[in-house]
Amino acid sequence: MRKQTLYYIYACTLFMLIFPLPALAADEIIVDSETLNVRDGQGTEFDALGTIYQGETYEIIQETEEWIEIVYEQQSGWVSKEFVTIQSQTVNDISSDNETLDSFTTTIDNMYIRTEPSSSSSIKALLDQGTSCSIVEEASDTWYLVSCEDEEGYMLQDHITATPTTENESMQGKTIVIDAGHGGRDVGSIGINGAYEKDLTLKTALALEDSLTSLGANVHMTREHDTYELLKSRVLYANTVHADAFVSIHYNSFPDVPSVTGIGTYYYGGVDQRLAASLQDAVSLYSGSKDRGIDFGDYQVLRQNVRPAALIELGFISNADSEELLQTDAYQDKLVHGVVNGLSAFFADQ
Ligand SMILES: [Zn+2]
Repeated sequence: MRKQTLYYIYACTLFMLIFPLPALAADEIIVDSETLNVRDGQGTEFDALGTIYQGETYEIIQETEEWIEIVYEQQSGWVSKEFVTIQSQTVNDISSDNETLDSFTTTIDNMYIRTEPSSSSSIKALLDQGTSCSIVEEASDTWYLVSCEDEEGYMLQDHITATPTTENESMQGKTIVIDAGHGGRDVGSIGINGAYEKDLTLKTALALEDSLTSLGANVHMTREHDTYELLKSRVLYANTVHADAFVSIHYNSFPDVPSVTGIGTYYYGGVDQRLAASLQDAVSLYSGSKDRGIDFGDYQVLRQNVRPAALIELGFISNADSEELLQTDAYQDKLVHGVVNGLSAFFADQ
């Protein structure tokens, strides 16, 4: 995020706190044309940062005569006014309530707030259990902007409603091995528009490491970089650290039928099946993706694993829409929530 954008957000937040209006509104654009380039500056000579599509809405940062700066992928970008409609949008329910901002107290140790509404942004502060916080605004479907004892930043909505007596307690002290599929010279599947499975699995695995660690789990990673690791050493690792759960992260591909989408989970035997079912249920629920169910899978990382183990295929990169969606932080957050909740349910049931 650019500094300018950050200042804008802080300025807006401050404004909302000082001048609570009955109905706060922020302008946003609706894309009129079928596709529209988002550019690095005001003019077609600037580099295209990406493409947005008809009917999508984006928050406006500022307007000039012919161009509009919008919030785009947690940064900012410029679009031509010619191809959009501007509309007013109520910011959210919480800050339009001018009497009180919703407040809460952190229920677990080491809850974190981040610099941006994304699991891949840096951690701004770790909070002790019992810290008083207030919700400033709803930043997205999954994130709140919160203010906790003079620190302001973004927190997962799930973490705010987390209570130590139910699901998250089951994560405390659990040893979890997260296996980012493929890596190094083994790129895994290649998406229809060129995404590598090995990059997506690592992105998801690193976000999972973060989320699970913050909930008190002992997380081990079979790889943390773009490195090639033998399958047998991945399994050996799970067996050596006596993992309470081993989760292998993969993305699927079926180029012959590019319309195929959805999430599926594999198990080898014994307790694996219950782990697979817990993961599958939660990830389908949180992501809203097609539920392809669980199945027996004769994979080496499962077959040679003496610890509870499951392999989850989090979507098809042979489908162009899925490939694009899977690369967004917002959707990755949903997948991560799903896996975390699936593990919680598995542990809580033991
Ligand atoms: Zn794979």
